[in-house]
Amino acid sequence: VVVGAGAVGASAALHLARRGVRVALLEKEDAPARHQSGRSSGVVHAGYNLRPGSAKARFCAEGNRELKAWCRAHGVALAELGAFVVAQDEAEAERLRELERRAAANGVEARIVDGARLAAAEPHAHGIAALHAPGVASFDAPAFVASVVAAAQAEGAEVHFGTQAVRIDESPHGVEVRTREGRLAAAVAVNAAGLHADLLAGTLAPDVRIVPFRGTYAELVPARRGLVRTHLYAVPDLAFPFLGVHLSRRADGRVLAGPGAMLALGREAYALGRVHLRDLAGMAAWPGFWRLLAQSEVRRLVGRELRKSLDLGAVAREAARLVPGLRRADLVPAPAGNRAQLVSRAGELVDDIVVRESARAVHVLNAVSPGLTCSLPFGRHLAGRALALLEAAPTEAASTPA
Ligand SMILES: Cc1cc2nc3c(=O)[nH]c(=O)nc-3n(C[C@H](O)[C@H](O)[C@H](O)COP(=O)(O)OP(=O)(O)OC[C@H]3O[C@@H](n4cnc5c(N)ncnc54)[C@H](O)[C@@H]3O)c2cc1C
Repeated sequence: VVVGAGAVGASAALHLARRGVRVALLEKEDAPARHQSGRSSGVVHAGYNLRPGSAKARFCAEGNRELKAWCRAHGVALAELGAFVVAQDEAEAERLRELERRAAANGVEARIVDGARLAAAEPHAHGIAALHAPGVASFDAPAFVASVVAAAQAEGAEVHFGTQAVRIDESPHGVEVRTREGRLAAAVAVNAAGLHADLLAGTLAPDVRIVPFRGTYAELVPARRGLVRTHLYAVPDLAFPFLGVHLSRRADGRVLAGPGAMLALGREAYALGRVHLRDLAGMAAWPGFWRLLAQSEVRRLVGRELRKSLDLGAVAREAARLVPGLRRADLVPAPAGNRAQLVSRAGELVDDIVVRESARAVHVLNAVSPGLTCSLPFGRHLAGRALALLEAAPTEAASTPA
């Protein structure tokens, strides 16, 4: 059983089915990609910003190539535009050199270009230098996930929409997945439940908790989309696992500004005023949440993000550092997406993908950005781990006394 038909669960189900395993993919919504995977920037990331040696860096470099090839082969909209990380001053230009070092270590094509080269590619952008990553692309993420689910079905996977897993119970012989609709027995479970994955992982995740961070977006009004031709990023603060505001031309021609990184008061609370009391109570009971908020730089981030959530003018001011001609009137709000950000008991934002295993289950925690880009090789890796558990575990027949 695979829980969750986002990009990660869909890919794990596909790779298991391809290896001849009987798979049931459970999804609580009535369609795939209703949460993180369908509420993203839709960027095929290159991985120049990722810490060398991290799981994200490895899967991103492979995933970038595989995802673009998948889109071409399956008719999923893809726009191969490249990206510029734009430095405004010498201090930021120095940080570009760190990004260039990371790119080289991660095997990612990227090079620093001067302001004139930036202006030739992006006439409305302003910067003294930029890191150019030609491998960055835009794609239709919901259509991609739907095509992976369809491919899994074509390989024999059963897909059950409207089926919410409540808990995963293990025995020496297998797992029983309790759903609101009934029980399902299987040899092995893969938990790819995104924003709810820590709840299903239960005792396997006592030291971490998902704290949702909302990515709020605005988009350029159609008449002003010409301000941005590719993807423009500010130089990221590498202390946080968020990329900061960027301007992204999507595969459908829309141009997004965002996402922000605002604490959300509910795993699926997508608007500022929305509070999900149960989730909020869970967050308040988690010592890591208070230790996170005790950090002055986190409180500053939350304050900044709150201003941007309340006022598109604040988003416009941040975006105008990249494109000085951009005004408040050029922006309209766009749908938000929440990140399933893992926070440790000590209050640290966990940076890398976390996978935890028991004898009969593989749990995916912290499949944060660039999780879509990583999803094809990462799902193959998860399928491999689930198969290893299948092979290592005693089968019902073998372990029953004769
Ligand atoms: C604002 C934002 C922007 C992003 N931009 C990018 C980007 O441009 N490029 C990129 O590579 N990555 C991006 N990411 C990261 C990327 O979206 C995620 O890493 C990726 O989508 C994670 O996929 P997933 O399958 O783990 O989670 P999800 O897509 O959240 O899927 C989990 C699924 O599990 C289901 N589910 C949950 N609980 C249960 C249950 N109990 N029973 C049954 N089903 C359940 C949910 O309904 C959901 O469909 C972004 C993320 C956010 C939030």
